[in-house]
Amino acid sequence: MKIDLSKLIDRAVYKIDFVHSLDLDKVLTKTREIIMSSPVETKGSIYMTDEGLYLDATVSYEYYENCARCLKEFVNKIETALSGRLVENSKLSRKIDDEELVFYYDNDEVELVEQVLTSILLSLPMKSLCDDNCKGLCLVCGKDLNKEECNCNIQEIDPRLAKLKDLFD
Ligand SMILES: [Zn+2]
Ligand SMILES: [Zn+2]
Repeated sequence: MKIDLSKLIDRAVYKIDFVHSLDLDKVLTKTREIIMSSPVETKGSIYMTDEGLYLDATVSYEYYENCARCLKEFVNKIETALSGRLVENSKLSRKIDDEELVFYYDNDEVELVEQVLTSILLSLPMKSLCDDNCKGLCLVCGKDLNKEECNCNIQEIDPRLAKLKDLFD
């Protein structure tokens, strides 16, 4: 996933547009294994500015997720922004602010894979719904309320289960 920066560095152009597709089967986090359903697409531009090179991109990915309410599997689509300054590796002695995202480049080429992976890990939602209006499972009989209604009276729910209900709301 390397991008050639020589035209920008030579000031032949002031902007490069790029689209990059990365084939990833899965991403491992500390607690989960994320199975991707399609290649990760990174689309953006690199600019030559008065302060140097700057990258601005969007990372789009799709993965298999289970709905937090009805537990059904669905494909979750996420878009996340990726942007920051580009710094040449040989000039690393210059102090870099930790808060700032920096892409290092060498020999007029920048490698984005690591930053794309980081942006995926940082943007993964804690929990997701198959649909904002997902009705979830009945806490009494366990039926998927998106598919059928049941006659359970949620009001008569055991107080110990009411706590569980709060979790699902
Ligand atoms: Zn659902
Ligand atoms: Zn029910």
